[in-house]
Amino acid sequence: MLQTHAGVVVVGAGPAGLMAAETLAQAGIRVTVYDRMPSPGRKFLIAGRGGLNLTHGEALPAFLTRYGTTRERLAPAIEAFPPTALADWAEALGQPVFTGTSGRVFPRALKSSPLLRAWLARLAGLGVTLRARHRWEGWDGEAGLRFAGPDGPVTVAADALVLALGGASWPRLGSDGAWTGLLPGVRPFRPSNCGFLIPWSEVFRRRFEGEPLKRIAVAFAGQRLRGEALVTADGLEGGAVYAISGPLREAIAAQGPATLHLDLRPDVPAAALAARLDAPRGGQSLANHLRRAGLPPVAIGLVQEALHAGATAPLSALVKALPLRVTGPAPIARAISSAGGVGWDEVDERFMLRARPGVFLAGEMLDWEAPTGGYLLQACFSTGAAAAEGAMAWLGRRG
Ligand SMILES: Cc1cc2nc3c(=O)[nH]c(=O)nc-3n(C[C@H](O)[C@H](O)[C@H](O)COP(=O)(O)OP(=O)(O)OC[C@H]3O[C@@H](n4cnc5c(N)ncnc54)[C@H](O)[C@@H]3O)c2cc1C
Repeated sequence: MLQTHAGVVVVGAGPAGLMAAETLAQAGIRVTVYDRMPSPGRKFLIAGRGGLNLTHGEALPAFLTRYGTTRERLAPAIEAFPPTALADWAEALGQPVFTGTSGRVFPRALKSSPLLRAWLARLAGLGVTLRARHRWEGWDGEAGLRFAGPDGPVTVAADALVLALGGASWPRLGSDGAWTGLLPGVRPFRPSNCGFLIPWSEVFRRRFEGEPLKRIAVAFAGQRLRGEALVTADGLEGGAVYAISGPLREAIAAQGPATLHLDLRPDVPAAALAARLDAPRGGQSLANHLRRAGLPPVAIGLVQEALHAGATAPLSALVKALPLRVTGPAPIARAISSAGGVGWDEVDERFMLRARPGVFLAGEMLDWEAPTGGYLLQACFSTGAAAAEGAMAWLGRRG
């Protein structure tokens, strides 16, 4: 077993861990980053497939509300490294950003790879060592860390440790949540920004799997959001559904299957639709009648599903509030992010584990969730920087 001294150790080469490494190295501290995967930033690279929504341009008070009950705990880190700082950081790495009409901020390249490449080059220039294919497996005494490396077990002595192990979505990209037994107070991971399971009829599934539902609104528990969704083999996914994923997931966990409502024509007032749809349709087929009211085939299919399931409301009411019985969230492996992780009682205001002084946590492995829109990456970058600052303050106090 090899015994090395690695300066400050960062485990996890995602956005949170790499930002911690950069912050430490910029201060002249020797840093070694370990990751279980063969290359760094795999989830960050996949996030680039959707254009890489880095952050959001809305004013900070509104921005911070997106973190719900964890707002207070995340606010100091995000205020210290806010969306404007993240945009400047990307630009300094040669990736100019723009703000889309929705307020979302993207690199102009609309992908992660050039940004990650430039970032890794900067880290190498700062002397950061990256050790791939090393899975952190726990502790070895007070300051020792155990890894499973490509050539067998490795023990590493660290001055301080930043853990940025990610959540539990898309485990094949690295963050598999297998570490939960190694840390205290971990709340079980649950899918967030995820699809939901809806028992489609065989006929509907065969015809409409893969069909987008454009310009709809999704309503659940007093929330109503416009957006798009996609029919999957076993339910719905996509932005409009992700946006209500937290409350819907919790409602199902508490009470079992829940009903959400789709507005299939959110731009048309209910009265106008009623005038069109609730009049006698003469010899016209139901499908034709609905098509003439501007519904695409997939929306007509949804109305027919509801009628087959016994819905008795007038057609216009069904189009404005189509009930869908949701049996559960889609598997976490397909979710954009996860809720759960190390509870906030376990860390102090500097992100240090109360039970293990000198160990700092950052990113999605902490128990928070936020909608898509750049809020996920922003919190990962900000907490990565904050955990590094915490580690430096702790090292300074130790002398
Ligand atoms: C398809 C998709 C699209 C997304 N798009 C966006 C977007 O546009 N905007 C946005 O804000 N967010 C987006 N996200 C979410 C965002 O990518 C994540 O929230 C973010 O990557 C989390 O960063 P992190 O550093 O905390 O963890 P991760 O990026 O998951 O990194 C954790 C690292 O820790 C390593 N690791 C885990 N366990 C161990 C161990 N025991 N030993 C060693 N290494 C370990 C993993 O291999 C991994 O490299 C998207 C996610 C997905 C899946």
